[in-house]
Parts: sequence; structure tokens; C-alpha cells
Amino acid sequence: MKSLSEYEQLAASAHGHLCAGQILGLRMALYGMELLGLEDPAGKDRKRLITYVEIDRCATDAISVVTGCRLGKRALKFRDFGKMAATFCDLRDARAVRVAARESSKDRARELFPDIADKNQQQMRPYRDMPASELFDVQWVRVAIGPADFPGYKGARRVCAECGEGINFDRDVEREGRTLCRGCAGERYYAPL
Ligand SMILES: [Zn+2]
Ligand SMILES: [Zn+2]
Repeated sequence: MKSLSEYEQLAASAHGHLCAGQILGLRMALYGMELLGLEDPAGKDRKRLITYVEIDRCATDAISVVTGCRLGKRALKFRDFGKMAATFCDLRDARAVRVAARESSKDRARELFPDIADKNQQQMRPYRDMPASELFDVQWVRVAIGPADFPGYKGARRVCAECGEGINFDRDVEREGRTLCRGCAGERYYAPL
């Protein structure tokens, strides 16, 4: 693993700026790697790891920097729970750990560094310096990862009987004998104009 400040530089260039959320994300991912005992998640251990993130914010980009898990590699999964938490799954040893930022960590940061006026700065210091056990709660968990969710999965590509668009990774649904995409099956998040 690299040092926190090296990761900070990588995160700043990947994300466009360095902020408290980035540092929290870096610490969260570093803690997850430490708990799992992964030494080189972005290198030799890269095939061992899938990460579930529960928020789409600054911290999420930082988690990618440490873990090497990206959406486009299918190793980063987004579950929109709006929570500052992530679950790191070691596929080789079938272990997973969920790391969640403690609600109390912001207050603690204020207690420790009351004199720093800028709120972002006030949070960056403690997020760097506080022990991980004070910043985060840890839970060992089991994650049921379906075969189609694994990065290397090669499934049949199907075509939606309604819209004609291709569907990968078994995301099609059967409705009254027809193969439909999730959009045509009623999960559409957009409305055609
Ligand atoms: Zn940010
Ligand atoms: Zn369709």
C-alpha cells in the first residue's frame, strides 16, 4: 500500500480537488484493505476484490483510488442508500467487511480541532489523524454475489422484445413469455418525450 499522502495526491487528480470526503473515503478503503489483509488491491490482488459503495459522493472516488475497483470493471457496485459506508469483499477467501463512517466522527473532529475555522479544513485534519477505530464502525458480513455480478462473467446477450435494445449480464426479465429489458418491464427511470 502507498502512504496516505500519496493516495491524497492520486485522489486529488482523479477527483479534481482534495476535500474532507476524499480523505474519509481513502481512510475507509485503507481500513477495509487492512481488515481483509489485502496488500496490493490495485495490483496483484485486483482480481480478489469487489467493493460495494452506498453513496455517490467524493468519498466514492477516493475508494476507487485505493481499491482499484471501478464501475467500468464491474468491481465497483453502487447501492444507493445515501450512507457513508462501503463493503469490501475478498473473493478468494470469501470474506467481506462493511466499514461505515461513525455519526459521531464529525463531532469528535470539532472537539479535537475547534480552532480551525474552515469547515472542510477542520474535518480534513482529524480524518487524517484519528484512529480508524474512532472514525468507523466495522461489521463482518456475508454478501451474496450472483454469478452475473462477477467482473469476468460472460453471459448470453439478449434482445428486448419491446424496444429492440441489447441486454447483457442476464438483466432481462420474462413477462408473459416475452424477454424484456428492465426499462420496458416497468423500471424505467426516464419518460420518452
Ligand atoms: Zn470532494
Ligand atoms: Zn426494452
